[in-house]
Amino acid sequence: MTKKSKFFSEMPEELYFGPAFDDEEIEAVTEVMRSLRITQLTSGVVGEFEEAFADYVGAKEAVAVNSGTASLHTALIALGIEPGDEVLVPAFTFIGTVGPVMQAGATPVFVDIHEDTYCLSVEDAARKITSRTKAIMPVDLFGHPADLDPIRELADSHGLAMIDDACQSHGAKYKDNRLGSLAPLTCFSFQETKNMTTGEGGMITTDDPELAEICREIRHQGEKSWGVIGRVGYNYRLTALQAAIGLVQLGKLDKANDIRRAIAKIYTDALAGLELQLPEEKPYAWSVYHVYSFLLPKRLASQRDKIVDDLLANRVSAGVAYPSPLYTSPVFQHLSGPFDCPIAEDVSSRVITLPTAQSIPLDLARKMGAITAEVLEGYLK
Ligand SMILES: *Cc1c(COP(=O)(O)O)cnc(C)c1O
Repeated sequence: MTKKSKFFSEMPEELYFGPAFDDEEIEAVTEVMRSLRITQLTSGVVGEFEEAFADYVGAKEAVAVNSGTASLHTALIALGIEPGDEVLVPAFTFIGTVGPVMQAGATPVFVDIHEDTYCLSVEDAARKITSRTKAIMPVDLFGHPADLDPIRELADSHGLAMIDDACQSHGAKYKDNRLGSLAPLTCFSFQETKNMTTGEGGMITTDDPELAEICREIRHQGEKSWGVIGRVGYNYRLTALQAAIGLVQLGKLDKANDIRRAIAKIYTDALAGLELQLPEEKPYAWSVYHVYSFLLPKRLASQRDKIVDDLLANRVSAGVAYPSPLYTSPVFQHLSGPFDCPIAEDVSSRVITLPTAQSIPLDLARKMGAITAEVLEGYLK
């Protein structure tokens, strides 16, 4: 049996590592069910989750929604992005970053990445600004923050809106500050594979109460007050059942991130000394290692898929995040290139991804690290 997953497509069921729950989540959900108040409109639990999350990331406001994709779509609309606008996005990310740009009717403009962090290159972003550019969306990929200060400077100097896609980086720090208020709007996902989960879910954080209010309207049908509809809205509401899980998961996030960092260190120790480019934290970054992606040397790019198959056959849950720059997908073929993202092309041809889920026992991580080193040694000699 195979399971389609966001990061490890076709992963055999027994090699997929899910979230970590215990009785606390189960009791929290049960309590909300027993209350017979299970929506954001009738239960206070969603509001509690929003306050706790805002506190944790150090933002004034948080708005819960029902997916990371919904959080990004809401953020784009709140910032006034509309058809005809161009939005700068990294070419190397999950489709969940870019789908919302298209949903808002705007045009994604693909920007190259830095080879060492896999995050958006501010230099390439600057080159791709036109008179139609309205927003920039850095992604804190694989748990490592993008270099947000220069990106924010670029945005401010060109009057661009900025959204930080932190869907893989709950709790990560940029220059000692948690992601969440380092851009006008920051977006998070609580999908099953993320560092904390509510099954599906999302959150927008901001220091701007007006923007937060607009996001709340968009989340709930565009309603300003009962019967008064101010704009086109959606039903992007999170349930209280999910918020109850989220509150418990938030309390465990630091521990979960410590486990992810410990697993990343296990892989680094196992693979150090091999001819590989291993993930590292930049001096400005405290990464929460959503996954562990490393690069093969260029000469092995053509064998990457075979190596991943070999790892899977040896019971290492290896995958590829991401196998190609997004603009190669059929949905973007109407956009006129050239897309000109050589680093994203190169990185996506050489990247291999190992899981860091907090449900992986450390002994198993050690075993997977050792087997990975052994398999790779065979190819590298
Ligand atoms: C997961 C993810 C999203 C989308 O979040 P969902 O909750 O799955 O809708 C967007 N951007 C990135 C970078 C993600 O990893």
